[in-house]
Amino acid sequence: MTAFHAAWALLPDGWARDVLVEADDSGTIIRVTPDAAPGAAQRLPGHAIPGVPDIHSHAFQRAMAGAAERRSPAGRDSFWTWRETMYRFVTRLTPDDAEAVAAQLHVECLEHGFTHLVEFHYLHHQPDGTPYADRAEMALRHLAAADATGIGLTLLPSLYRHGGIFGRDPNPGQRPFLNDLDGFARVMERCAEAVRTRPRANLGVAPHSLRAVTPAMLAEVAHYPGPVHIHAAEQTREVEECLAATGARPVEWLLHNAPLDRRWCLIHCTHLLRVESEGLARTGATAGLCPTTEASLGDGIFDLPTFRGAGGRIAIGTDSHVGTAPRDELRQLETSQRLRDQARSLAADDRDPHPGAALLRAVLAGGARASGTLTGAIAPGHRCDLVELDDSHPTLAGHEADALLDAWVFSGQANPVRTSVVAAESLVQDGRHRDRDVIAARYRHVIRRLLA
Ligand code: ZN
Repeated sequence: MTAFHAAWALLPDGWARDVLVEADDSGTIIRVTPDAAPGAAQRLPGHAIPGVPDIHSHAFQRAMAGAAERRSPAGRDSFWTWRETMYRFVTRLTPDDAEAVAAQLHVECLEHGFTHLVEFHYLHHQPDGTPYADRAEMALRHLAAADATGIGLTLLPSLYRHGGIFGRDPNPGQRPFLNDLDGFARVMERCAEAVRTRPRANLGVAPHSLRAVTPAMLAEVAHYPGPVHIHAAEQTREVEECLAATGARPVEWLLHNAPLDRRWCLIHCTHLLRVESEGLARTGATAGLCPTTEASLGDGIFDLPTFRGAGGRIAIGTDSHVGTAPRDELRQLETSQRLRDQARSLAADDRDPHPGAALLRAVLAGGARASGTLTGAIAPGHRCDLVELDDSHPTLAGHEADALLDAWVFSGQANPVRTSVVAAESLVQDGRHRDRDVIAARYRHVIRRLLA
C-alpha cells in the first residue's frame, strides 16, 4: 500500500483539506479521507489535482516542434504545406529515434501535469512503405518509452489506407502510414499482446480520418474494443472535400453513418455547424481539442460555448506538441473564444464561475472517457494519478482552490507542477522527472542528427 497526504486536494465534490489518499499495490485508490493526519504518507504540501489525460498525441511530431515554422519559398503556408514537411521528416526517423523522441515527450508531459497519453499512432512502416520485420515495431516503441518514463498510455494504432475521401489513391509521402485490413489486424494482435502485461496501458483503435478509410473499413475497425478516435473537421478544405464527395460535412456524415457513442472521440471538430455540435453532444462522444496545435496550424477556433451549451464533452490533447502542458491548452482554448466573441470567462457559468477550474473539471472527465481508463478523479477505484501544484510559487501564491486553478491556467509562464504521480508511483519530484537528464541526453543526440 502507498499513501499520499495532500494539504489541499480536488475531489469529485470539491476541494478538501488534509486529504489522505491510499492506494493498493496495483496503484488503484482504495480510500480518500479528508481531515486526516499524514502519518507515514508522502506529503504533498501544495494543491493536489487529478493527473490530466492528454488525449491526442503523435509523439514523433515532438521532434518537428519549432522546426516547421520557416516560410516556404512559394509562400501561402498552411496546414497542407506543414503536412508536406511532416511527410519529408518521417523519412529520417528510425524506430530507435521514435522511441527516444517519445520518451522525451513523456517526460515533458509528466513534468507539466499530464499523467496519461493517448497515442494516435499512424507511422507504421519504413520510409518506402516496407513493413518492419515485426509489423508493430513502431507501435511497440511507444509502450517501451512508457515503460521507461512511467506515463499511462492508451495506444491507438491508426488505420490509414487512402489519400482522400473516399478511397482516393495515397500519395508517395503517405507510404509509411498505410495498411490494408489484414496487415492492420496483425498490428492490433501484437499490440493487444503487449498491453496485456502492462497495467498502465490499454488499447483502442483510430481510423485516421474520412480521407484515409472507406465507410466499410470504418465499420470494420469500429468492432475493435476500447476507445475509437478519428480526426474530423480540422480544416475547411477537408469539410469542402467531404461535402463534394458525399453531400455531407465530416461530422454530419459520421453522425449518420458511424455508431458514435461514448467510446468515440472526434479529434479537432474545428468546423462544426450548430446542428453538428448538438448532434455530436447527444451521442456521448467526446470532442478531442488540441488548441495550441490548432492555433499553430491555422486550423480555426472550436465553438466551445455552443458545444458545451448542448451538453457536449471535451478533452484536450497536445497533438503536434508545440505545447506539452495542460495549462497551455486550457489557456489557448478559453482565450481563443474571447478573441472571437469579444467577451470573457466563456467556459464558466453560475455553478462553476472560475473558467480555469471549469475547464479542468471538464477535461478530466472527458479525458478519462476518451482514453477508456479509470483516471481523472481522486476517488476510490480510480488509478492513483496525482499532480501537486506548488502553491508557494509566485504564480500561485495567495490563491486557493478554484481561484488557484485560474491563476495556474491564465497567468505566468513558469511551471508550478512540483509532483506527478502515476499509479501511486512518484515520477516527478521537485519539478523533475527521475530520469530527465538521461532521457534528454538521448533526445539531444537524436534531434541533432534529424535536423542536420
Ligand atoms: Zn492528429
